[in-house]
Amino acid sequence: MGCIFCKIISKQIPAKIIQETSHSIAFLDAFPLVKGHTLIIPKNHHMKIQDLNHEENSDLFSLVHKVLSKVDKLTGSTLVAVHNGKDAGQEVPHVHVHLVPRAQGDSAGPIHTMFKTIKFSDSEIEEIYNKLK
Ligand code: AMP
Ligand code: ZN
Repeated sequence: MGCIFCKIISKQIPAKIIQETSHSIAFLDAFPLVKGHTLIIPKNHHMKIQDLNHEENSDLFSLVHKVLSKVDKLTGSTLVAVHNGKDAGQEVPHVHVHLVPRAQGDSAGPIHTMFKTIKFSDSEIEEIYNKLK
């Protein structure tokens, strides 16, 4: 169905695979933001984390845990990120966890630099809290 990550899983297109489990695979990003930029994906095609079943979810995040211990040794700090949905910045509609080694003086900042600061009223916060809890 044209998904680039499904093609990596079926070995139709090459990738620099770091580690593979029954349900997940970790490989280097082909357009790395920094050296060691890694992606970890489930082998079954799902768009969002909440679409994974329990087994796929556990397998994926246990591989994240394993590979992170290697990637984190590169610089000592790692951004772990998931764009979960198109409007969240997801370009490839197949779940993927980014591991991006970070270092002092790199071109990125904390999460708050991604957004303009907005002050929310107490009632707005209370409303969203009631919806989520
Ligand atoms: P996102 O923008 O969160 O959907 O991330 C998609 C990521 O996939 C980007 O970091 C791309 O550089 C990466 N990417 C796209 N095509 C490939 C490919 N063929 N092999 C490895 N990584 C890829
Ligand atoms: Zn896919």
